[in-house]
This record gives sequence, structure tokens and C-alpha cells, in this order.
Amino acid sequence: MAVPNVLSSPPSTLKTANLGFPRMGRERELKFALEGYWNGKRTADDLAAVAKRLRASHWQLQQAAGIDFIPSNDFSLYDQVLDTLVLIGATPERFGAGPVTPDRYFAMARNSHEQTAMEMTKWFDTNYHYLVPEWSAGLTFKVDTAKLLREVGEARELGIETRPVLIGPLTLLLLGKGVDGFDALTLLPRVIAAYVDVLAQLHVARVEWVQIDEPILATDLPEGAAEAFRTAYAALTKSPVKLMLTTYFDALGSNLPLAVELGTAGIHIDAVRAPEQVDTVVAALKPAQMLSVGCVEGRNIWLTNFAHASSLLSAAVAALGEDRVIVAPSSSLLHVPHDLHSETELPSRLRGWLRFAEEKLDEVVALARFDTVAAARNALAIADRAAAETTVNPVVRAQLAALESKDFARAAVYAERTAVQRAELGLPLFPTTTIGSFPQTAEVRKHRAAHKHGHETTEQYEEFLRVSIEDCIRQQEAIGLDVLVHGEFERNDMVEYFAAFLDGFAFTEYGWVQSYGSRCVKPPVIFGDVARPNPMTVKWTEYARSLTSRPMKGMLTGPITILQWSFVRNDIPRQQTAWQIALALRDEVRDLEAAGIRIIQVDEPALREGLPLRRADWDGYLDWAVDAFKLATSSVGNETQIHTHMCYCEFDDILPSIAALDADVISMETARSQMELLEAFRAHGYPNEIGPGVYDIHSPRVPDTVEMKKLLDLALQVLKPEQIWVNPDCGLKTRAWPETLAALTNMCAAAVELRASM
Ligand code: GLN
Ligand code: ZN
Repeated sequence: MAVPNVLSSPPSTLKTANLGFPRMGRERELKFALEGYWNGKRTADDLAAVAKRLRASHWQLQQAAGIDFIPSNDFSLYDQVLDTLVLIGATPERFGAGPVTPDRYFAMARNSHEQTAMEMTKWFDTNYHYLVPEWSAGLTFKVDTAKLLREVGEARELGIETRPVLIGPLTLLLLGKGVDGFDALTLLPRVIAAYVDVLAQLHVARVEWVQIDEPILATDLPEGAAEAFRTAYAALTKSPVKLMLTTYFDALGSNLPLAVELGTAGIHIDAVRAPEQVDTVVAALKPAQMLSVGCVEGRNIWLTNFAHASSLLSAAVAALGEDRVIVAPSSSLLHVPHDLHSETELPSRLRGWLRFAEEKLDEVVALARFDTVAAARNALAIADRAAAETTVNPVVRAQLAALESKDFARAAVYAERTAVQRAELGLPLFPTTTIGSFPQTAEVRKHRAAHKHGHETTEQYEEFLRVSIEDCIRQQEAIGLDVLVHGEFERNDMVEYFAAFLDGFAFTEYGWVQSYGSRCVKPPVIFGDVARPNPMTVKWTEYARSLTSRPMKGMLTGPITILQWSFVRNDIPRQQTAWQIALALRDEVRDLEAAGIRIIQVDEPALREGLPLRRADWDGYLDWAVDAFKLATSSVGNETQIHTHMCYCEFDDILPSIAALDADVISMETARSQMELLEAFRAHGYPNEIGPGVYDIHSPRVPDTVEMKKLLDLALQVLKPEQIWVNPDCGLKTRAWPETLAALTNMCAAAVELRASM
């Protein structure tokens, strides 16, 4: 095995950095401590002690790995954006003022009887959710560095000097929302003053470097932001504390001149998502600025290609000298699982291609040391992965290569299809249905766990499922729903359930990643070509259909949602993996159709979430994402009705793509927004059918018929009667049976009233 020649005259060691470490702990200790505290089973002191132990152990393992710049303040009991608001004294006014007690902190983060929590939304294009700042004129901006300085001090007690992490002022401001249309940027002077104060206190605490995260620089900046950046950093760079302006998730692109001009002591760039920017950034830097090269992926779990990363580093070193180059992960390691040691069940070959947070630190250090032994080992693993026959399925590749445009389009246009479907299905005006899942009660989960752990035989478990499905169908019939579902009792999760049937997927045992607060997800790993050896849902759907004379809707998760909620292989384009999943789903759709299922719903709640950060890249993504859906769903006959469901989604700017999906029926969340979302559909002249959710499933509250009828009247103002379906906002899995039955009964009554009024 030839060692890449960039390593033949090794420079001396480069400095290494980490940008953030997973907080939960190897065994998700933080999750359990938090939940124990919330349940009243643990005291605040207990929780604090667990958190402190985790921080200490994470700092120590970073030190042991050989990381020079070890982050502090990357830890959080809930969310780093909320922590930053606490730091600068800008927590939402509606939660009161004064020092933030643990109770108030968690009240902002979690719904309670008194208050709805702060809104949560995805952190850039990750599956991590942050709490959205609420900007208003009355914020007090009282700086409180207690947490920040405590962490710096704790690390020091262990003999570790850290580089504290702050979310930068512009990213913080721009990710928030102005309350009642308030313009957040008018707060800039007060925000700047707060950050200046924070830096001054860090200086007094003898902190030398701060990592200031401004990932917003990797997006299209709104008007006024560039100027605001200049104003802010003119003030911040007066501090003697050195700032590492940290960007990630995409290239700086047109914001590069701005980023450099801000004059921070260093800039961190994502050289995984955007390796091509290394050269341009190197050329643009000011004379003494340091460059932190994020060349180990913080967003995915694959091993780094050392030859590739070393050549990026060598180019940077050649231009800037060794002292100005730092090696780092591309982003915080928050987005990958803790460590690989405990994954003893994974096939060992696959394991050799994976790196979790701890292993990624080792990669950073090996790259910084131009370690030839590690590089040779890496080259072997890279070559092993590239040559692995387990990742290539020639049948799937041939199928993909043979696709024609007719594979992406229904046989007839919607207007023709709907006529056939109406005749075939015989549904009333305003047909009623649900989004798929019915309550996943403790009993359902108990049986699933018992089966999984071998305490219940497959026969026993399946008998339980049959009884649950039958009961669910009888309930739906009694309520008077028009299109029934089987209830999804057999599914633990809308992606994992499918992944378990598909070739090309693997599952970790402990590969947890924080989604929000104490909530973690364990995404499946797509390591190879995807194929569907056997049907996945046909048995249960067919069984359900056999129990009733009403139409039974088959339920599938769409290709983009499966893609988005998995760790996706990086050795072929995402588009190809998406289409492979689509082909597998197409097989399933065909089998469902052959089994007499006339309505098939393919859920795509993650379609929007796959959008690239930069507008200019949207169309490319939307084209292949829409095609993936069409590939999965277009092979059915005109009489088969395709539904899709999107949860909550802002449709305004992607409506042409939503329309291009050409689903016969789309359902979505609209209850909480008073049907506002429908306006985009009207403006677009969207022709197909729509099921705007008429009640919020996120709370146990049972809305009455009048309330749901009002929402339907609103829908009627923008849609034609034949276009409208009646359904809840989303699946009912988190609800209990009594409220579910009551709400669905009221919902069907609203549909009946509406029909009578026509
Ligand atoms: N069919 C799924 C359910 O009802 C859809 C869930 C979702 O869109 N998030 O649970
Ligand atoms: Zn939903």
C-alpha cells in the first residue's frame, strides 16, 4: 500500500482543536439524570453532579487524545442557544426576569401547565433542535457568566485550559424571531455591549482564546447583516481575548471577504462540506490570521480520507506556515455518537469504516502529526471500503441506470386519475381519515420490548398486533371514518422500521445523537446499496384490509425522510441513495397495490429539511428529491390513490416542488396556524386534493366540532370543496385512546355538518 507522498517530508506537529463534544455521555447519563430531575426523582444537586462528572470525563478524554484547543461551555443541560440567552440576559420576557433558576430554565425549554415553552427548530441542516430566541424591546441584557466561568474553572481544576465556545452575536440574533414583528437587529448595540462584557470577564479569568460560532456566515445573509457583523466585530476584536471565528456546514462563499475583514485572530472553516474553499480562504486571510481546517467530518460517522485531508492541510501549511494552521473536526461533534468501543454487534468490516466522536479526535491528532503509521492504516481502510462488494448491488445499479422518464410520472394526469379514483373509491365529499398511527400505548411498547428481548414469542407478539389492529379498525368504523388505517402498532419508528427490512442498512446499539433536550435518536447507518428483499408492510396492511369493507390506506415512509433521518454513506451522491430507497419503496407500493390496497400514503415530513443552506443550491436538491418521491409512487394504476403527508412545513417558497410531487392527496399540519398555510396552495393554483389538519395532535386537548368546522370553513374559502379532506394534523401515536376517540368523533361530526351545508 503506497503512502501518499504528501507525507514523505512530514512537517512538525500542527495544533489540534475540537469544537464541541457530545454531552449525553457514553451511556446517556445526562438524559437519565435530566429525566430523573424532571420526574422529581433526583435533586438539582444530583443533576449538577452528573453534569459535572460528564464534563470532566469529556475534557479528560480530549486531553488524552492530544487535543490542544479543548472546548468548554459546549456542554448544556438543554440547549446552547438557550444558554447563550441566559449568558447575555436575553431570555424571553414572558418567562419573567431576574436570575434564571433551574425551574425557570426548564420552563423555557419544556411545556408546562403555566406556559408554552420556547419554540424549537432545527439547527441549520442538522437534526439538533435549538430553542428560538424571542427578541423584544424590553429585554434587560444582564450578563451572567456563572455557567461560562464555572466550566472554565472546573477544567482548570483538572489542569486543562479550555477554549470556551460562544454562539456569536449575529448567529444568535438572526436565528431568533422578533416578537410581534420586532426587528431583532435594533438590539444590536445592546447585544454587542453584552458580548464585550462577556469577553472582558473571560479576559479577567485569563482565558486566551474563545471559539465564537458564526455558522450563519455559511448561509445567504439577510439585508443589513454584513454591516451588523462589521459593527459587532469592530467592538469584539478590541478585546485582548483572541477570537476563532467559527463557521461550518457549508462554504463561506460570498461571505468570505466579510469574514476575513472582521479581523478575528483566526477563522475556522468546514473543509468537509466545502474542501474547495481551503485555497481561496488561505489566499484571502490577513497576515497573522490563523486558519482552523475542519477536515474531519463532524456531521457523519465515516472515517476520514487521510490522503485527501493531508493534502488540504499541506496546502494550507505551504501557504501559511505550520504555526498558523490548526486541525479540527468540521463542526462540533455533537452530531455524532460518543464512541465506537461498545459497538460489538456491528459487522467488523463495517466497523472499520466508522468513526464516532472519540475516534474522530484520534483522527484529528493523527492528521496533525502527519502520522505515517496512522495514514497507512487509514489508506488500507479506505481501500477496503472502496473495494467492498458488500456496498454494491449490481442489480440495483442496473435498475438505476435503466430508469426512463416514464418511471417518474403517473400514467395519467391528476384530472383523469381523480375521476377514476372517485368512481372506484366511492367516498363522500370531505372524506375523513387519519395520518396513520394510533396511540402507541405503554402496552404496545411493552409487547414490542418483550418480543425484542425474547420474552415473548413472535406468535404471541403477532397475535397482540392482530388484536390491536382489529380493535383499531372497529374503533374507526364506529367513529365513522371513511378511509381507515391499520394503526402502525408494529412500528417503533417511522424510519427504523423500514430500514430493518432493507439491504444496505446497519444498526448501532449505542449510536445515540442528541435531538433536543434529553431526547436522543439512533439513526440507522446506510453503508451500501439499498434494496428490498422482502415486503415490509404488506402483511399487516393486507390483514387490516381483510377486516373491513371500507378503504384501507397503506402507510409508507418516503425516500427523503428515510435518507434524512439516517447516517448516509458518503461514497456515492446522496441522490443515488435516495433513488435506491425510492426503488425499494416502489417495490412495496406495487406489492400493496397487488394486495388490493387502493390508497397508499408515502410520508415525507423531512422533504423541506433536506434543503441545502444556500438558496442557489435548492433547485438541484428539489429536483432529485421530488423525483425520488415520484419514482417511488408513479408506477401505480390511475385508480390507486397516492397520498403524502408533510407535518408542519413552510410551503411558500417550495410550492412548485410540492405540486410536482403530484400526489393525489397531501395532508399537513394547519390547525395551529389557522389554515394559513393553504394560502400558498391557493396562490399557486394547486389542483390536487389537500387534507389540512383540523386539530393539533401535540396536546391531549379535545377540540369540539364547532372549532374544527370553523377551520374547515376557512379551508373552504381557499380551496374547492372536492379538494378538501378532513384529518388531524399528524399521526396519533403520542396520544391516549380516550382523547383520540373523542377528537376523531368531533372531527367526523364536523365533516358531516359541512356536507349537509353544501
Ligand atoms: N404515518 C406517520 C404517523 O401517523 C406519520 C408521522 C409523521 O409524519 N411524522 O405517525
Ligand atoms: Zn406529521
